[in-house]
Amino acid sequence: MSFEDLNLHPSIIKAITEAGYTTPTPIQQQAIPELIAGHDVMASAQTGTGKTAAFMLPALHVLATPSQIRSRGPRILVLTPTRELALQVSDAAKKYGKYLPRINVISILGGMPYPLQNKLLSQPVDILVATPGRLIDHIQRGRIDFKRLQMLVLDEADRMLDMGFIDDVETIAAATPGTRQTLLFSATLDNAIDKVAAKLLKTPQRIQVATQKAKLDNIEQRLHYADDMSHKNRLLDHVLRDEKVKQAIVFTATKRDADTLADNLYAQGFSAAALHGDMNQRERTRTLKRLRSGGLQVLVATDVAARGIDVADITHVINFDLPKFAEDYVHRIGRTGRAGATGIAVSFASNKDSAHLSKIERYTGQRIASHIIPGLEPRIKPRFQNNGPRNAPSVTQKRKRSPFAGHDNRPGFGVANESGRARNGQRGRTFDDNRTFGHGNRGNSAFRNNNGNKAGYQSARTK
Ligand code: AMP
Repeated sequence: MSFEDLNLHPSIIKAITEAGYTTPTPIQQQAIPELIAGHDVMASAQTGTGKTAAFMLPALHVLATPSQIRSRGPRILVLTPTRELALQVSDAAKKYGKYLPRINVISILGGMPYPLQNKLLSQPVDILVATPGRLIDHIQRGRIDFKRLQMLVLDEADRMLDMGFIDDVETIAAATPGTRQTLLFSATLDNAIDKVAAKLLKTPQRIQVATQKAKLDNIEQRLHYADDMSHKNRLLDHVLRDEKVKQAIVFTATKRDADTLADNLYAQGFSAAALHGDMNQRERTRTLKRLRSGGLQVLVATDVAARGIDVADITHVINFDLPKFAEDYVHRIGRTGRAGATGIAVSFASNKDSAHLSKIERYTGQRIASHIIPGLEPRIKPRFQNNGPRNAPSVTQKRKRSPFAGHDNRPGFGVANESGRARNGQRGRTFDDNRTFGHGNRGNSAFRNNNGNKAGYQSARTK
């Protein structure tokens, strides 16, 4: 099947041809005809399957015919759980809609100044991409006219549910015309999602493509057992110094750990920065821009902040801490292996994570093979939970006490003095200027010992 077979407006075909797409992905093949026929659709599709185009192309197709209703309000509304995802959806809309006349796409996101948003909303809008909380504020202030709204898209509905946005989503839907077409995209379609769909969609077509398993096929999953934080830090240093790493995302459990780890990687000579929900929108956008331009080698992120990041050069995803939910594991590792590329996903786990690991493996239907790095063997022999042998670190490789054991056990510490200074700059300089990265960590001795980086830190702070 080709895009021409989907009966999309020629201006849209022109834009996607220019983007280099030749064949619609399975979700696009199934969803686009249903959507052009005007049906409501609920689809299970992971990020990376082409789901954004699956709803955006039919949305733009709708816009190709002028509205008969006099209003300046949006004709298409896309709700996303995070600001990052919203910005990607907006970018996709602009990219695919560039040959349609005058398509105005705006994003209304938390963390952006209200006066600017009020100004955006006072102009005629075709596509409005928003996070639910901030949009509700504007609706309550009477700033949005939904009279001519034709399509409501709930992107990553499962995530909106997890994050407690569903009441807001229902309130927003209630403010839109009952005649609208409603689309729901979610990583999984389970009972909770069915309930949301039953309230908001009208006899939806259900589309299920690419199982988790198929989706993850281009990603090599590796497991490293780690004794403690210091061991994790040394493993991380080793993984990141592999020359095959173009760009990497490291996931931590908390925002604080993301900051600390980014600071310390930076101190060790990596062009690294953190991304999490406590940063303001400007900082987040700037960091993401650097990631996209290739100026940032290592992004240290929390789950929510990294959702939806789509950068082709991300070769490695590292779970410094395992995610709390198995579903997040799939979202995290899906940041690599984008658009047909291959990727490597490395997870660090300790003994106490074994039940959790089993949960993740059950969810993905795939076993994560454990790997050992010579010289960085785990001291403790991992226990297994109903998993059988997991390509386990053998007894011959065990109990070698690391010469680095006993160092500061905060994330990112423990390597700078041994290896960071000597290696400092080798990596960082290959990516953009060190001075533009990092959040700094004044009290960190590893940082102070690291040649030249203090100045770098200060300049990063004052930028
Ligand atoms: P998504 O699942 O929407 O996050 O999209 C994943 C990636 O696939 C994005 O980089 C898109 O630009 C790309 N993409 C979407 N549709 C196609 C297609 N039909 N052919 C090639 N690449 C595509």
